Amino acid sequence: MSNLVAIVGRPNVGKSTLFNRLLERREAIVDSVSGVTRDRHYGKSDWNGVEFTVIDTGGYEINTEDIFQGEISKQVQLAIDEATSVIFMLNVQEGLTDTDYEIFEKLRRANKKVYVTINKVDSSRDELPATEFYQLGIDKYYTLSSATGSGTGELLDDLVNDF
Ligand code: GDP
Ligand code: MG
Repeated sequence: MSNLVAIVGRPNVGKSTLFNRLLERREAIVDSVSGVTRDRHYGKSDWNGVEFTVIDTGGYEINTEDIFQGEISKQVQLAIDEATSVIFMLNVQEGLTDTDYEIFEKLRRANKKVYVTINKVDSSRDELPATEFYQLGIDKYYTLSSATGSGTGELLDDLVNDF
């Protein structure tokens, strides 16, 4: 598959909400690598006439912190191995966590195209708190609201332009 975009990030940042928003038609392909928590959901999308496949990662039935860590690490590794581009999602409401740093380090070492997105920026009021994320040492991030769709256009413009 070409133009494969994975959405990664810790639980509850809004990955599945963005995934569902991007899908035009649900392909309902679930790749159960080994058990429920490694399920990866694939869907087709397109932007400005450019088709791509989106992978929602992260598992759906994760209950404990211990499983979180190992599971996120596996999902990030799968994304690094498989995807052409990675949307790394953060949550403005919770700020940066150790897990965010761990994921980002892994992505940075992998040399993939990574789009850092700050989700849950539902209004302009949330733009200023988002500047905290420059601590990651990045030049650019995208502020989004997966819930309303605001900000997703700029991300998609750059994403498909870079394919
Ligand atoms: P995931 O675990 O990363 O897949 O996160 P989900 O997509 O399941 O979302 C987790 C929670 O955050 C849900 O209650 C969503 O409704 C909520 N959420 C997702 N995106 C946004 C957003 O842009 N703004 C706000 N306020 N809530 C959001
Ligand atoms: Mg999810």
